[in-house]
Amino acid sequence: MSSPDIVILGIFVADTTYRAERQPRLGETILGRSFSLGPGGKGSNQAVAAARAGGHVGMITRLGRDVFADMALDIWREAGVTSLASTHDDGQTGAAFIFVDDVSGDNAIIVTQGIAAEIGPEDLDARRAEIQGAKVFLTQLEQPLDAAHQGLAIAREGGVQTILNPAPATELPDAMLALCDVLTPNETEAEALTGIAVSSVAEAERAADTLLAKGVGAVIVTLGERGALYRDATRSLHVEGLDAGPVAETTGAGDAFNGALAVAFAEGLDAADAVRFANATAALSVTRSGAAASMPDRAGIDALLE
Ligand code: ATP
Repeated sequence: MSSPDIVILGIFVADTTYRAERQPRLGETILGRSFSLGPGGKGSNQAVAAARAGGHVGMITRLGRDVFADMALDIWREAGVTSLASTHDDGQTGAAFIFVDDVSGDNAIIVTQGIAAEIGPEDLDARRAEIQGAKVFLTQLEQPLDAAHQGLAIAREGGVQTILNPAPATELPDAMLALCDVLTPNETEAEALTGIAVSSVAEAERAADTLLAKGVGAVIVTLGERGALYRDATRSLHVEGLDAGPVAETTGAGDAFNGALAVAFAEGLDAADAVRFANATAALSVTRSGAAASMPDRAGIDALLE
């Protein structure tokens, strides 16, 4: 396989989902109604989305030596993602406990990153050649911040386009924002980064301006079913969301969007077409259940864009 055009730093977690008619109290055991096991973690979901959308993708992370690591490697192999992960005997692969109340639909989640909590700048130094050999470097914030920062710095030094999906929501140092060619917050994340509450396109533009002033090259605020706002120093584009059919579940929409965006930029699309491609991919993903399992293939994306 050719070397990756898109290198993604992030984490994999095995999502273990339990449904029951109510939450157990501390000290209590109850019988549940169903259980499911599936792949998760923003980085891994974005890698699968990008590969299914037609990208040559490499995934940097840490895995344990356990059954969940096998699951990650199987999912990536199936999607065509090249593993750039290191395997560790002294830690576990990430896992998430997801409790779903079968009556209300509400959930409660515990995410343990496992050995991925120890990803550090050295993991990025070890993959300097792959990062600098790529066209696009994409990361999020589920692994430690200093690792993301180092990945962005190595990519920038190599002239590789950098995309940061600043999820989960947090504040970020200006030095890190200045390393981002493209920053892709959703409304909540845009507010965490700027202090500006975002629920309209005009507010998204204001938040984007604050981020551009801190040295970000371009900001794409995702707006759920309303699509996304692209803003850079010279342009402001609201690209409407697409309707690809009845919504089954929106989990993973942001990951579909970011994975597809990386593919579009790696292929040299301009901003408007790249956001349209990402909107189409995410719109298709919400018509299916699951996160990684809901990522559409290239033929489906192209058909929706025709
Ligand atoms: P999530 O946390 O559910 O993965 P998010 O909050 O990170 O998503 P959103 O802004 O909700 O991100 O959605 C990301 C993108 O997904 C949107 O920009 C849009 O392209 C697409 N999208 C989301 N919801 C819908 C929808 N109901 N119909 C069509 N497209 C959607």
